[in-house]
Amino acid sequence: MTPTAHSPAEQRVLHHRRGPLLVLGAAGTGKTSLMVELVATRIAEGLDPARVLLLASSRRAGVELRDRVAARVGRTIREPLARTAHSYAFGVLRRHAVASGEPPPRLLAAAEQEVLIREMLASPSDAWPQALRPALQTRMLASQLRDFMPRVLERDLSPDDLARLGRRYDRPLWVAVAAFVDEYAGVTALAHPSAYDPAELVRAAVQLLRDDPALLAAERLERALVVVDDVDEADPALLDLLEVLAGGGTTLVATADPDSTVYGFRGADPQAVREFSRRFAQADGAAAPQVVLDSCHRLPGALLDAGQRVAARLGGSGVWRSPASGAATPGGPQQPLEVRVLASGSDEWAHVAATLRRRHLLAEVAWHDMAVLLRSAGDLAVARRALARHGVPVAQRTDEVALWQQAPVRALLDLLSLACGDEPRPAETVLDLLLGPLGGLDPARWARLRRSLLVAEQQRGGSRTPEQAVFDAVVHGTAPPVSDAAVRALGDTVRTGRAAAAQGSVEQALWVIWDSVGVAQRWRATALAGQADSTAADRDLDAVVALFDAAAAFTDRMPGAGAEAFLDHVRAQQVPGDSWATDLPTLDAVAVLTAHASKGREWNTVAVCRVQDDLWPDLRRRDSLLGADDLVAAVDTGRLPTSSEQVSALLAAERRLFHLAVTRARAHLLVTATDDGETRPSRFVDELDPQAVEERGVERAADVLSLPHLVAELRAVACTPTACAAERAEAARLLALLAAQQVPGAEPDTWFGLVPPTDVAPLFGTDDDVTLSPSQIEGYLRCPLRWMLQRAGGENGTALRQSIGTLVHDLAFEAAENGWGPAQTWARYDEMWASIDAGRGWVARRERTRVDAMVRRLMAWMRDNPRDLVDVEVEMTTQVAGATVRGRLDRVDRDADGGLVVVDFKTGTNAPTKADVEHNPQLGVYQWAVKSGAVASCGASSPPVRGGMLVHLGIPGAAAAKEQHQPALDDADDPTWPQNMVADVVAGVRSPVFAALVNPGCGHCPVRSSCPAQPDGGRLLP
Ligand code: SF4
Repeated sequence: MTPTAHSPAEQRVLHHRRGPLLVLGAAGTGKTSLMVELVATRIAEGLDPARVLLLASSRRAGVELRDRVAARVGRTIREPLARTAHSYAFGVLRRHAVASGEPPPRLLAAAEQEVLIREMLASPSDAWPQALRPALQTRMLASQLRDFMPRVLERDLSPDDLARLGRRYDRPLWVAVAAFVDEYAGVTALAHPSAYDPAELVRAAVQLLRDDPALLAAERLERALVVVDDVDEADPALLDLLEVLAGGGTTLVATADPDSTVYGFRGADPQAVREFSRRFAQADGAAAPQVVLDSCHRLPGALLDAGQRVAARLGGSGVWRSPASGAATPGGPQQPLEVRVLASGSDEWAHVAATLRRRHLLAEVAWHDMAVLLRSAGDLAVARRALARHGVPVAQRTDEVALWQQAPVRALLDLLSLACGDEPRPAETVLDLLLGPLGGLDPARWARLRRSLLVAEQQRGGSRTPEQAVFDAVVHGTAPPVSDAAVRALGDTVRTGRAAAAQGSVEQALWVIWDSVGVAQRWRATALAGQADSTAADRDLDAVVALFDAAAAFTDRMPGAGAEAFLDHVRAQQVPGDSWATDLPTLDAVAVLTAHASKGREWNTVAVCRVQDDLWPDLRRRDSLLGADDLVAAVDTGRLPTSSEQVSALLAAERRLFHLAVTRARAHLLVTATDDGETRPSRFVDELDPQAVEERGVERAADVLSLPHLVAELRAVACTPTACAAERAEAARLLALLAAQQVPGAEPDTWFGLVPPTDVAPLFGTDDDVTLSPSQIEGYLRCPLRWMLQRAGGENGTALRQSIGTLVHDLAFEAAENGWGPAQTWARYDEMWASIDAGRGWVARRERTRVDAMVRRLMAWMRDNPRDLVDVEVEMTTQVAGATVRGRLDRVDRDADGGLVVVDFKTGTNAPTKADVEHNPQLGVYQWAVKSGAVASCGASSPPVRGGMLVHLGIPGAAAAKEQHQPALDDADDPTWPQNMVADVVAGVRSPVFAALVNPGCGHCPVRSSCPAQPDGGRLLP
């Protein structure tokens, strides 16, 4: 903004020389720039910069203001003329202490507050209601108290005032908090003399200035110009401070946009702006003047109109809401406002990424001049991952996500917590750690490990869940039934950290843990590689550095405090920016941040995303237990708000936040939501863009302009035989160009479909032993490819089915072996059921009902079986065609004529056909094994084998078990068919070729996606 470009309204502000002035302006009218210009003008006229007090609403805003003034003035300014109200108040208290010869004040650290509050709640006063006492030790109550106490102090309420309000409005908790606040003040004064809680800092400075006329006079004399940016975000304590300071006629200039007030949860009150002119009256008693800025410098017309549509619903006179639109930003799109409703969350992120990439590649907008804004901090990580996946570099400021919420920091803190034995949910934490950024397990590997642990635990007769077995291995160092490198490494880290925590400081313990997990080199290499995941690795390393900074600062401030106090301190930092760590360096990357954090900032292109009905407006009350908002209303209006007033206030606050977000773009605003049948776009979307409500459809994502997408498209054209020859040639030429630049995926040598087999040798060498079970023989005969791939690990989540099969077979064995009746069998079944993981809720109930029916059929079959039991779970081993056949028969019975019958229990839901049963491989092999004397318990010269029998227990709806019989081998056309069949199978598994045999089981084949006989497993290229 150059001096000659100032409008008459702006000129009035710049020429203001005495007394108060309120500057009202909508978003984009240049309020902050005008304040910078005002300060620069006064300094150019000869005002000493030390006599200027420029108050900003946050530390970051203060730093930016100071830099802008220094740049505008053209010289370095020694005094920190732009600061927060807390910083100024602290300076007043310090100067007074020095002048009085008292010890300098000190700010009570958040950790000290936390410790103090927790200690006091550990021995609560009688004022706390009995019903709440069990909750007094929870972090939630401490957190609500920390939010509640500042509201009390800002409104200058004494403990007696608060207790009176509690009695008047029948709020016993306020009475209890009043006693707590009184005690807290006493304990603080005693234990930490001259220490101030951040919440009482401004109020203490106000009180001091009121009590000390000499100090007040000196301060007023010192401050010739007081400028407050965003006075609409001021709490009552700051307004009192301004009133005291400006009461002597000091020039006070304050800016406000009541439509963008978003820090209500910190005590800000947008209504206070209305009172400004009366409260800050001029020396002659006349109301303070106000200037309305009437030119918008930032927003193009369409965006200004959209912002005004949202603001108009906030009510009030809104005299500041209709500035004239300025010139459009050069390079801005024809349609600055783009509102999209996408069919799914992934479509939404793909569309946002596509828009940002187009703006960067086609309009040459720098990455750091673009931002993605979200309502909820919980969506930030999802957004960053999704955008990074689509080739958008993303930045994360440490003051936007609390330190402990960053994944690597959370993992390190969990490790420290486990090492100290202070973790409240240790078993879950161990699993989270294994699957987290420091753990080295992925979900697929965990699923396999879990399955193995379940089986191993059952085999050893134990009852631990896999999670408990892993926990014991990591925390107690017990040997797990199945060994895993990631579990071993995590256990080593916990034990190393435990030793370090017992001996040294928090910092040392953290360092030992970090060194032990050993990811630093890998992350560093990834960060420096300049690839898609480099930004994430960079960010993770920065987060770890920030944690070490915090640990160092904590050790310096509280040398005697242990790791538990540090964990409490870091995890209590719920508000982003409540960190001692330094900020991240500025990267050329898109900012992804909450709408709250966008206050006072602007970008060329802004995407406001996840504007969903259930997320924005968020009408849940945040102060549900202590009722801080009700207290504020009771003090300000003299009564408690009704429910509808509470909802209206929440809705207005959410609308102001949305208004703030949609007025941050200079050139292009994209607003997105999802309509997937379960969640709907927010009403705010329609308020922003009402004309398009009817026409707006639900869309799929646009193409993302990224190299991976380009390579994929070119490959698709180049490899499509039916495509035009010229297009294929051009695609091939472009791919060659990209390959020369080493773009991943462009070089045909790397194309999966063209890669030759890594090995064509047979699975087994001629000297290798081949061991097969009868069920493997049956599996090979069903489909050789499936058999081979499953043997190599191609399984999916069948753990439950397998566990249930094992349970029923074990129960059949134990019941027969022990001769149990129904009561014992059911009791044993209940015990067995408790040891398997059948899921939760209706899934578990459905499975239990299904297995109950199987057990009933089993018991009925055993009761009604006319044959005598010979043996159960019978081992067999024999040699065929140079291979070993080893298996276990479920049961062998003797019929009335003394002949043997082989029984095999089945728990599947389908029975084979009669023809299939005649040559059922398992029954055939078992019959042959018994007949040939390979089953020791049946004797070498066993009685005649009269056949085999499948007993189906799991056929849905069947009243009883279904029997299917296989004739005796002696009655078959070829009594040697089982040997011949096994010999063929052995020859097959020794060959290098495994054919895909399509069969009725293909529908639930776990390796279907790798099967060339299926559409989803076909080769990508010819
Ligand atoms: S899908 Fe069918 S043919 Fe393919 S591997 Fe599986 S069972 Fe064999």
